[in-house]
Amino acid sequence: MIELVVATRNRHKTSEIQRILGPEFRVRDLVAHPEVSEIPESGTSFEENAKLKALAASKQLPALVIADDSGLEVDALGGAPGVYSARYAGASATDRDKIDKLLRELARVRATDDGRRARFRCVVALARNGHLLETFEGIVEGSIADEARGDSGFGYDPIFIPEGLKQTFGELPTEVKNTISHRAKAIRALADRLRRLEFGG
Ligand code: IMP
Repeated sequence: MIELVVATRNRHKTSEIQRILGPEFRVRDLVAHPEVSEIPESGTSFEENAKLKALAASKQLPALVIADDSGLEVDALGGAPGVYSARYAGASATDRDKIDKLLRELARVRATDDGRRARFRCVVALARNGHLLETFEGIVEGSIADEARGDSGFGYDPIFIPEGLKQTFGELPTEVKNTISHRAKAIRALADRLRRLEFGG
């Protein structure tokens, strides 16, 4: 059994990662560790933010620690909202507010079909004892729908159509999203590496 701590207090994220990793892994998070301080996402790239979070938590916990950072990049918006995906419409905005703002921006710049191309990107950083061991990236390419469709998932899922499919992530079953998503790809790359390096114990 390989034990990991995810540097998050988001239970949704922890259980999604546990499901992707499967029973060979035991995933815990920071909910059980109130002593570990909140780590601000002050970086300008997903990689920088993932590293910041993993390193800070691993300095305070005797465990293998992972942290992820993710977001949506839209071509017609020069890669926005990118690392600002969570805060795109202000700190207390709802997912609906963020989706509305993104669709308004695409209309404002008169985005073509090509401009509606987008991708979700996720970087996972692995650290131990305050040292970075490795980072893993996962990307899912797709495009932005004309309007929100479906209510499964979270964030920008209702407007993201993965390449080769017609439904949005909001319409697809969770198991399908969890097989092809950016996070699934990054976490599976992490799992392969951990199995090979036998970081368990
Ligand atoms: P973080 O990685 O927890 O900082 O999340 C960044 C933000 O990117 C989230 O708040 C969502 O708005 C967006 N995001 C990241 N991954 C997904 C996804 O799988 N579906 C929809 N939105 C996502």
